[in-house]
Amino acid sequence: MKLDYHIIYSPQRKSVTLSVERDKTILVRAPIGLSEEKIHQAVESKKLWLYEKLNHNQKYPDKTTYKEFVSGETLLYLGKNYHLEITDDQVPNVRFHSRFLISRCHQETAFQLFRDWYIKRAYIKLPPKVKDFAESLGVQYNQILFSDLKYRWGSCTPNNNLNFNWRIMKAPVFVIDYLIVHELAHLLESNHTPRFWNIVAVQVPNYQVAKNWLRDNGNTLEEDFLDKKLGLTTATTD
Ligand SMILES: [Zn+2]
Repeated sequence: MKLDYHIIYSPQRKSVTLSVERDKTILVRAPIGLSEEKIHQAVESKKLWLYEKLNHNQKYPDKTTYKEFVSGETLLYLGKNYHLEITDDQVPNVRFHSRFLISRCHQETAFQLFRDWYIKRAYIKLPPKVKDFAESLGVQYNQILFSDLKYRWGSCTPNNNLNFNWRIMKAPVFVIDYLIVHELAHLLESNHTPRFWNIVAVQVPNYQVAKNWLRDNGNTLEEDFLDKKLGLTTATTD
């Protein structure tokens, strides 16, 4: 499916903002001078969010913005916002305690650094959860993979591999639990039948809250895009 959008250039603007208007047209507000290709990349990177907004009848207009990786900005991790600090010290990669710290010399490539950091965290934190839920559901899976899923938060393959979008590491734990259970439940029931939702509800009774959270806040998980010089890095590797 191709996305049509209108571009409004503004000299005051420093970053790109996408919005879905009441009539469901997509508006891109961009700084003067940003190439059409970069704008196209920006739109492509938010496809998941845009499709969700276009297919949902809820409050419009709605906005999404991009991170610029400057001091004072906040970044999500497990549903909480943490401040980002840029330091002149040499810090390899991303340091995280009660805030995020990166070196000024890494600012330009911050998106890639954070992507790697979230993926590393995902591989540490989520497999034990997946194992526990799989045990209580009585299902077997092969591998767990965290990558750049374009249009989804999770998927499972016919050979029982589980794929998750690494951006789910920004979501609250109850949302992550729901996404894990959702994919595992597909190993028992491939369609979204009443039986499927019953299986999910046994493991995650508040799954509807998690679904609503994703519908309303899913875009915040994708706010990770713009680097300092308005050069857009791309979230997809394929
Ligand atoms: Zn599903």
